[in-house]
Amino acid sequence: KEISAGMTRRISTTATRKMLHDSPNAQLNKQLLNRYTRLQQQIDPKYIQATYLWIDGTGENVRLKDRVLEKIPTRPEDLPHWQYDGSSTYQALGGNSDISLVPRAIYRDPFKAGENDIIVLCDTYKPDGTPCDSNHRAAMQAAYDQTKDEEPWFGIEQEYTFLDVDGRPLGWPANGFPGPQGPYYCAAGADKVVGRDVVEAHALACLYAGVQFAGTNAEVMPAQWEYQVGPSLGMKAADDLWVSRYILWRIAEEFGVVVTFDPKPVEGNWNGAGGHTNFSTNAMRKDGGISAIEQAIEKLSKQHLKHIKAYDPRGGKDNERRLLGALETSSIDKFSSGVADRSCSVRIPRGVANAKKGYLEDRRPSSNMDPYSVCNAILETTMLNK
Ligand code: ADP
Ligand code: MN
Ligand code: MN
Ligand code: MN
Ligand code: MN
Repeated sequence: KEISAGMTRRISTTATRKMLHDSPNAQLNKQLLNRYTRLQQQIDPKYIQATYLWIDGTGENVRLKDRVLEKIPTRPEDLPHWQYDGSSTYQALGGNSDISLVPRAIYRDPFKAGENDIIVLCDTYKPDGTPCDSNHRAAMQAAYDQTKDEEPWFGIEQEYTFLDVDGRPLGWPANGFPGPQGPYYCAAGADKVVGRDVVEAHALACLYAGVQFAGTNAEVMPAQWEYQVGPSLGMKAADDLWVSRYILWRIAEEFGVVVTFDPKPVEGNWNGAGGHTNFSTNAMRKDGGISAIEQAIEKLSKQHLKHIKAYDPRGGKDNERRLLGALETSSIDKFSSGVADRSCSVRIPRGVANAKKGYLEDRRPSSNMDPYSVCNAILETTMLNK
């Protein structure tokens, strides 16, 4: 009797689990789309599709809509401005809700069938012509315009976590937890990593698109991963980060997997997720550049609070959950720096200290940060003495 009761419970748990965890996106027959992508060859090549992509009022999520163009653009300036309903994206109230989209960067589209189809990364403007509150690109562009002679480069590490559609880390037991952290970082094996297909597809799609994609690795918490972009001059790394996030969301959507950039998806003894931002200038990359790196760190040490406010979309609230002074993070309350020390706010990588030139790594930005805010704060503090 007891055995059969147990079996019943097990079967019903499995059934519930299946119902909760399957995304309808994953169940659609992916072959059917091929019947229509075939038609691309019969379409007049003067038509291309452009996906206009922008950041919504949350400062964390992207929105997109597609339009057909009759000319292949070579520069963002060749593209028409467009608009959308800001009252549906947390960016305007009902009455005067048209928000303008201004094209800023063009990428090849890895999703559509046409070889000239593009992603158009845009920033957003209110009816009076001023940037939307969520448009931090405009301020970074202004800072870059004043510092471009020094050729600032950024390289960004993006950590993120795969979830089931019901919000549980992908592949974690429905009740309980995986074994403690240790075997998962940079690991191989079905008992150690989850979702590698998505990671590999993402790398290829980003390289195709024109993102300066730099690498990937499995992270310390199971179902958590990282990729890097850069190093790139000026606006490019921040632009690339937004486009690469979009590409990741889209590919995961096809697999029926949720991606979260939340900096602490599981409370407790599980690593959070960061957006380490690596930075250098001409002076830092030259022989003896270590002194320019140390000067920049000195300036950063005096503006800790300003940076914490810029380093997550909630003015430091998100990082309160992550920067605990444990699990490879520094304390949110205190600036610290060091060579090869991963419990510091800012780290000088070992190779940089040895070569006495290179770059610094700011480890404070959260995984869901806006790279425009982060890079802008770094430019302002270290190069504009703001
Ligand atoms: P780690 O995990 O050890 O912190 P990663 O290899 O994951 O390091 O990332 C290194 C990052 O540093 C990459 O994003 C890369 O683009 C960036 N980077 C490398 N050289 C420079 C440089 N000179 N200036 C700015 N960023 C750089
Ligand atoms: Mn409509
Ligand atoms: Mn890394
Ligand atoms: Mn990492
Ligand atoms: Mn790092």
